[in-house]
Amino acid sequence: MPVKGWIEVDDLYCKGCELCVQACPQHVLALNPDRLTSKGYHPAYLHREGCTGCAICALVCPEAALTVYRETPQRALRAAA
Ligand code: SF4
Ligand code: SF4
Repeated sequence: MPVKGWIEVDDLYCKGCELCVQACPQHVLALNPDRLTSKGYHPAYLHREGCTGCAICALVCPEAALTVYRETPQRALRAAA
């Protein structure tokens, strides 16, 4: 089962530089053409499913504007015999 991740972008810090967009190996990031931050930038967003939570985007972001989350699969509990 593929690992599922998601991100949050802090509009206060995102400057629309697109470094995260270019670095994402899943190609799930883009700049949002429908939104502007208070500083006038189009912020990054997840434009489709497929984020694995690898955190490469957060590593390359020069503004530390990204927080990455990763779903951890629940382990099946075995009933004691
Ligand atoms: S790398 Fe950071 S500042 Fe640049 S677009 Fe992505 S989230 Fe915004
Ligand atoms: S965590 Fe990985 S897969 Fe998800 S948006 Fe960032 S670089 Fe892409």
